Amino acid sequence: MFDLIIRNANLPDGRQGFDIGLAGGKIAAIEKSITASPGEEIDAAGRLVSPPFCDPHFHMDATLSLGLPRMNISGTLLEGISLWGELRPLLTKEALVERALRYCDLAVTQGLLYIRSHVDTSDPRLVTAEALLEVKEQVAPYIELQLVAFPQDGYFRAPGGVASLERALDMGIGIVGGIPHFERTMEDGARSVEALCRLAADRGLPVDMHCDETDDPMSRHIETLAAETVRFGLKGRVAGSHLTSMHSMDNYYVSKLISLMAEAEINVIPNPLINIMLQGRHDTYPKRRGMTRVRELMAADLNVSFGHDCVMDPWYSMGSGDMLEVAHMAIHVAQMAGIEDKCKIFDAITVNSAKTMGLEGYGLDIGCKADLVVLQAADVTEALRLKPNRLFVIKAGKVIARTAPRVGELFLSGRPASIDMGRDYVPPVLQR
Ligand SMILES: [Zn+2]
Repeated sequence: MFDLIIRNANLPDGRQGFDIGLAGGKIAAIEKSITASPGEEIDAAGRLVSPPFCDPHFHMDATLSLGLPRMNISGTLLEGISLWGELRPLLTKEALVERALRYCDLAVTQGLLYIRSHVDTSDPRLVTAEALLEVKEQVAPYIELQLVAFPQDGYFRAPGGVASLERALDMGIGIVGGIPHFERTMEDGARSVEALCRLAADRGLPVDMHCDETDDPMSRHIETLAAETVRFGLKGRVAGSHLTSMHSMDNYYVSKLISLMAEAEINVIPNPLINIMLQGRHDTYPKRRGMTRVRELMAADLNVSFGHDCVMDPWYSMGSGDMLEVAHMAIHVAQMAGIEDKCKIFDAITVNSAKTMGLEGYGLDIGCKADLVVLQAADVTEALRLKPNRLFVIKAGKVIARTAPRVGELFLSGRPASIDMGRDYVPPVLQR
């Protein structure tokens, strides 16, 4: 009665040694010992089985374009934007599709099966939108790809920005983006937030804005975004991405702001790799970290999920489609290294991201989609520490990717012949 049973799995909530039975594309049983004989069986051997990773903030139109047409010399956000502006007229649909599909292959091997990507709408040709809508359809059997209409050069600032974004929505892009801190003035930024929230409310769409991605503590568009969210009845359907200026804001102001954000049920999306790389660039020393106030936002019960944002593009020359790498950086930058902290960080790249993205049937419960990842780690803290291999990636009850365990062979007399980097190095305090 099961298509596949995963035996002896440890679950993200700490339960150990469970069998997970998959049938008809759903999770049909989670029990200590399932006796039925399945079509197929995987022995997780006491390793972590998690729902797939979700990336709520990515740029699939720019990914893998590193070096085109040149490298980012200053390494700043603003040079990245102007470099992307140089590349944009040269983009073709074919090249965009090819790069995006290649990134999706990588994502699948990393157990990353849900991605929300921004799509730059600044070029009125909208070749980016055309390409990514095609990719969305092509990858649908293995990746759920959500698309955001994103006015990279400014909704009001770019000539034709307003019309172009609307056309992208007409083409079928389902989320309204924005970039208020990049408009010409603070006032234009605030006006863009109001206009874009109105547009989303009129069309019944969610909102996901790049918001206050700057070190400037006076960049306070998140306040406007939260207020307009309440005013337009968009509670719970709005995401504020980056919010790095909150790092530099006055503490009293933030105490008022966080309550407003909580009231508006804003989904918060920091991008730890990109924030630590791009923020604080104008500081000498001490140099700001720039990531938003993750611990405080989580403590106020805001839904915080982390995005990868960039992989080998004009803004970021690194990245590997691995949400555990994103979480690893978040632990460092937010200084959240306690065991409970780490569990919250793992949630931020799984269940919290699923909530931000409004995913249905996501999770590790009976009736959820049979989408799972078997990792070469015993539990969540080990997964975050090691960024281990994804031994099996399962979509709709079928294995769609497999990676052999990482085992080091040793040729030293009197020492072991091989080591498993997780299992063989568990300190006594964590021994199970
Ligand atoms: Zn972004």
